[in-house]
Amino acid sequence: GDGRAHGRRVLLKLSGEVFGGGKVGVDPDVVKQIAAQIASVVDEGVQVAIVVGGGNFFRGAELQNNGMDRARGDYMGMLGTVMNCLALQDFLEQRGVDTRVQTAITMGQVAEPYIPRRAARHLEKGRVVIFGAGAGMPYFTTDTVAAQRALEIGCDRLLMAKNGVDGVYEADPREDPKARKYLSITYREVMRRRLAVADPAAFSLCADNKLPIVVFGLGEDYGIARAIRGEPIGTVVAS
Ligand code: UDP
Repeated sequence: GDGRAHGRRVLLKLSGEVFGGGKVGVDPDVVKQIAAQIASVVDEGVQVAIVVGGGNFFRGAELQNNGMDRARGDYMGMLGTVMNCLALQDFLEQRGVDTRVQTAITMGQVAEPYIPRRAARHLEKGRVVIFGAGAGMPYFTTDTVAAQRALEIGCDRLLMAKNGVDGVYEADPREDPKARKYLSITYREVMRRRLAVADPAAFSLCADNKLPIVVFGLGEDYGIARAIRGEPIGTVVAS
């Protein structure tokens, strides 16, 4: 059951930060703009699955620092991702894109449960599938879930949309303005240089399974659309 035979299929990871436009909650203008970019390429036949983060609402680790039980905080974090999913779903459907939200914590009134083969079927029919509630498990991150979902449903690439940085640099560009951006880099070189691409669990899932990662900036004009199309953008991490 490997979806890679079905033509181009990508997994886009959108962090919660994106949805909030830097604040707590959802910024409708930002989500509308992202939906427009996605809608513009779905017509072209690329199958698009999306994993949505929730850092614009809650992060379990931060709640723990404020005295809450970690696992409960993590569940709050996962529930936050679902609100982002519904906002994105709404703006995509306003654009005429068929969508399904699948969550790792069941909530039948608002979303389907996560069923990988059904997700693949939706994608084949041209629907955008939005995955929410992370892995449904505390102590995980949505980056890791993005890598896992991409592997399980057979995506060709994991597209990591970043705020404030447009690829992988040889050093942190905020600290060293002369640092150069890689157009492509191997997993091995990322590890050797200890570069931050995704969280370590997500990165090692990709490296172990040779899933290419495209790191690109949200600030780039039509960056999401270009990344989905497979145009050269940002940095490609592969073997
Ligand atoms: N989370 C979790 N398990 C998961 C995914 C997420 O416990 O499988 C929780 C965790 O507390 C995390 C929060 O949900 O801080 C929001 O997810 P994440 O930080 O990955 O979102 P992003 O950084 O992409 O906005």
